[in-house]
Amino acid sequence: MSSAADAVSRISQGISGVPAQVAAGRPTVWTNPARHDAHSALKQHQFGIEDVNAAAARWGRFAPLLVRLFPETARAGGIIDSDLAEVAMPLKSTLWEGRPGRLFVKMDHALPVTGCIKARGGFYEVLTHAESLAIKAGLISPGGDYGVLAGPPARQFFAERCLVVGSTGNLGFSVGVIGRALGFEVEVHMSGDAKTWKKDRLRRCGATVVEHEHDYGNAVASARRSAKVRSNCYFVDDENSIELFLGYAAAALDLKRQLAGAGITVSAAQPLVVFLPCGVGGAPGGITLGLKHLFGDAVHCIFVEPVAAPSMLVQLASGLEQSTSIYEIGLSNRTAADGLAVASASMLVARSVAQLVDAIVTVDDAELFRFAAQLHAGMSLRLEPSAAAGFAAVTPYSNSVGYAGRSPTAVVWTTGGALLPDIEFESILNRGRAIAAQPKVD
Ligand SMILES: *Cc1c(COP(=O)(O)O)cnc(C)c1O
Repeated sequence: MSSAADAVSRISQGISGVPAQVAAGRPTVWTNPARHDAHSALKQHQFGIEDVNAAAARWGRFAPLLVRLFPETARAGGIIDSDLAEVAMPLKSTLWEGRPGRLFVKMDHALPVTGCIKARGGFYEVLTHAESLAIKAGLISPGGDYGVLAGPPARQFFAERCLVVGSTGNLGFSVGVIGRALGFEVEVHMSGDAKTWKKDRLRRCGATVVEHEHDYGNAVASARRSAKVRSNCYFVDDENSIELFLGYAAAALDLKRQLAGAGITVSAAQPLVVFLPCGVGGAPGGITLGLKHLFGDAVHCIFVEPVAAPSMLVQLASGLEQSTSIYEIGLSNRTAADGLAVASASMLVARSVAQLVDAIVTVDDAELFRFAAQLHAGMSLRLEPSAAAGFAAVTPYSNSVGYAGRSPTAVVWTTGGALLPDIEFESILNRGRAIAAQPKVD
């Protein structure tokens, strides 16, 4: 087949797998037809529970270093984790509408140091890279004290090396913060939709920001090219990175510990239902892998995407043979959720979670603002639009499954916003309040 004919057939196949409502940019609850029971999906999976445990162990090795680099993490012993907070009345009555069970927020919007979920994936990948360089150079030994990596000899060593990454903002910031703290040179390629304050903040931490007019995929491609022509340069590949994925996966162990601490049982009768905002998929995908290893079919993982950029839904619905894009079905990628403004999902993640994701919900931008304002009023959360996506999915998803006779524990994963400048946050709140004041049109 000629490549043009190939492309045409690919597009028509893509459209045939994607519900018309998704292609029309309308909010949808998509139940994953390829979902398998967790046992059979994980039996031969590329990543086992030992990989998740190994990631947690690496986080543990680095805890003494993180305390030295970021004193704000000292209280938690250098562990990068967030609180699990229960949504109480009266807010619960509007978000959970009299359903059985309990509703929690996993507050990664307030993760230490970066105020976003990328502290899990981005930090982890940079630490993995630094560990391997430092062991090879004899700066540390396996099992030794990694705290020495905060000292001058290690900084000098890292200063001769660079990190390059493409980002819509938050990944670049996380790589920038940890990379600069270790002494690396850091170059971040930012997509056109990246917010100015995110670029400014990166420059302040000493990273070089390269601005691009086009979308996230272009920023990543140009970062990849730049890394290739420079010496001693490491490319953090958001679209293909195993390290990012496993860094996120370790979060499942944190949630498990917190649920156990709160005396919450996870079972078929009391399922854990987790709502995860999805961009390229690394964060929600890694967490899903970890949670399925820990809880099997008793956990239901729901990805949430903007109606204009449902990249994972389109990829999973149209098959895993080739990478596809939301542009192919006529969607725009124009969304205020800059952290989720991604036209193509990571194929590594799509393949990893194709049989594990329970459902994907697409949500309107207006809902993101409405919930950001509501969660600020009710729980004083400081959320960026991307981070509020999970809340917008709770009611449509819950209505579609019904939870017949079961008593779920729902967890909405918030993913960024604690470090939003006041002026940015005020404008999100104002927009959210204005939307809440309007009668709902459908
Ligand atoms: C990156 C990001 C996500 C999604 O993570 P992916 O790995 O891109 O799927 C969600 N919310 C925020 C705020 C983010 O920055």
